[in-house]
Amino acid sequence: MVYFVGAGAGDPELLTIKGKRLIDQADVIIYAGSLVNPAVLQDVKPDCRIYDSAGMTLEEVLAVMEQAEQEGKTTVRVHTGDPSLYGAIREQIDALDERGISHAVVPGVSSFLAAAAALEKEYTLPDVTQTVILTRMEGRTAVPAAEQIESLAKHQATMILFLSVGQIEELVRRLCTSYPADTPAAVVYKASWPEQKIVTGTLETIVEKVKAAGITKTALVAVGRFLGDAYTLSRLYDKTFTHGYRQGSEA
Ligand code: SAH
Repeated sequence: MVYFVGAGAGDPELLTIKGKRLIDQADVIIYAGSLVNPAVLQDVKPDCRIYDSAGMTLEEVLAVMEQAEQEGKTTVRVHTGDPSLYGAIREQIDALDERGISHAVVPGVSSFLAAAAALEKEYTLPDVTQTVILTRMEGRTAVPAAEQIESLAKHQATMILFLSVGQIEELVRRLCTSYPADTPAAVVYKASWPEQKIVTGTLETIVEKVKAAGITKTALVAVGRFLGDAYTLSRLYDKTFTHGYRQGSEA
C-alpha cells in the first residue's frame, strides 16, 4: 500500500492527525527534501527507510515503492502542502495502477492556505471578490495558452501565484495589463516556517521590496483587493438576513 500524504506548508503541527499517524507507522518514506520540513519526520519508526526524492527520477521512486510492496511494507510518499497542487502525484498513481499496487491520498494544508493565515486575510471578501485563482507563470514548465497571466488577470480576482517569485518582475508587468498599479500585493516566503517573511505593497512597489528582502524562491505571490480595506459586511452574520440556521431579528 502506498499513501500520498500532504505534509502541510512547513510547521509540523500543520500535519493532519491521519497524515502524522501514517508517517509515524511507515516502513518506507519518500519525501521531497527540498520543500518538506524534516521535522515532520521526527517520530518515524527507528527502522523506517527514508528516501529524499529530490535526487530521484520517477522510475527510481517507483522502484522503491515496488520493492516495498514486494516485502509487504507500507510506503508513505510525503508531499509538501497538499499533493493535489503541483505535486506530480498523477503520474505516480497511474504507474501504481499499472503495477496493481493500491494507494490512497491524505490531504494537507497547502501553502496558499498557510499564507492566508500568515497574512490573517480572507481571500473571498464580500463585494470585492468571490473567486480565487491558483496558478503559476510558465518557466521551464509550460502553462496552457488559455491560462496566460494576462487572461487570468482580466477577472481581477484574488490570484495566488506558485513557483513564480523568481520572475516577479515579468509577472508584475503582465499582471498590470489588467490589475491597476495600486492593487495590493503580498509575497509570503516560507509560510508557517520559523524563517517566514511577509512583504506587502502594491503592484507598483512589490518588485523592489521583494528584491530588497532577497526572496527568490519558496514563496507565493498574492494579488488583489482582498488585501485592501474596502469590503461590505458578510450577510452570513447580518441580523436582517435569515438563513437555514438562524432566523433574522428584523424583517
Ligand atoms: N503542493 C504544494 C505546492 C508545491 S509547488 C502546496 O500545496 O503548497 C512549490 C511551490 O509552492 C513553491 O515554489 C512556492 O511557490 C510554494 N510553496 C511551498 N511551500 C511554501 C511555503 N511554506 N510558503 C510559501 N510558498 C510555498
